Amino acid sequence: MSHLKLNQVSFRYKEQSSWLLKHVSFEVESGSSVSLLGPSGSGKSTLFYLLGGMYTPDDGEIMLDNMPLSKSGMVGYMPQDSSLFPWMTVKENILLGYKLGNKKKTFSLGNWLDRAGLTEIADSYPHQLSGGMKQRVSFLRVLAGGHSLICLDEPFASLDALTRSKMQKWLASLMNADQTLLLITHQIEEAVLLTDHIYLFPNLLEGRPIEIRNPFPKMERFQVRKTPVFWEFVQQMEQQLKQQT
Ligand code: ADP
Ligand code: MG
Repeated sequence: MSHLKLNQVSFRYKEQSSWLLKHVSFEVESGSSVSLLGPSGSGKSTLFYLLGGMYTPDDGEIMLDNMPLSKSGMVGYMPQDSSLFPWMTVKENILLGYKLGNKKKTFSLGNWLDRAGLTEIADSYPHQLSGGMKQRVSFLRVLAGGHSLICLDEPFASLDALTRSKMQKWLASLMNADQTLLLITHQIEEAVLLTDHIYLFPNLLEGRPIEIRNPFPKMERFQVRKTPVFWEFVQQMEQQLKQQT
């Protein structure tokens, strides 16, 4: 269970004179998945800081299952800049995610490292890794936590197309029915593959987003990806995005 509700959330950084997030309101049903799309600099990552508890809203409220979102540990958060602990190895970073999480998830470190292509660097330190490797480690760290709300900020942006595709499929297969996913991405294709709804913020994060329901059922998305109807939808969405942003 993890129903997320943002009610009129406003926020600005102390050094800035204007609001970055203004009366932002939306909901994500428990067990559902949503992509957030908006231009660069519109405040998407900042919104995730609020969800991750790094900053608090100046106004409005963020509720998880009808309770104020505190640092309850219910949110698994993967920041845009992987922020791994530099003094810990790859293995240790991922295990920490598991230890700090709710431990409900079946988790096998060896198997996960293997699937993510990280076995050979399991004992390396973050400074020894490429951007794409760091991203995968950070991804495993958050998934190992098994939280009921997972927030991923452009999780696959530094990966090559093939690895990205593998990680997308894996994410889709790992999400439990009761886990809620919030995904920031710039790729409409990724949004359509991975999430039930797309919430579009045209400029700043302000008011209610434009909500688009994914017409493709969860189980069929990776299959229909190969068909024209999928690409027609992606193109339509791209058009809409261009007009609105
Ligand atoms: P997005 O993720 O949509 O690209 P961000 O939330 O990263 O947008 O940034 C929105 C704005 O807030 C930018 O103008 C950015 O410079 C500013 N900003 C981001 N993080 C901080 C911070 N920690 N302190 C001050 N300003 C910030
Ligand atoms: Mg960002």
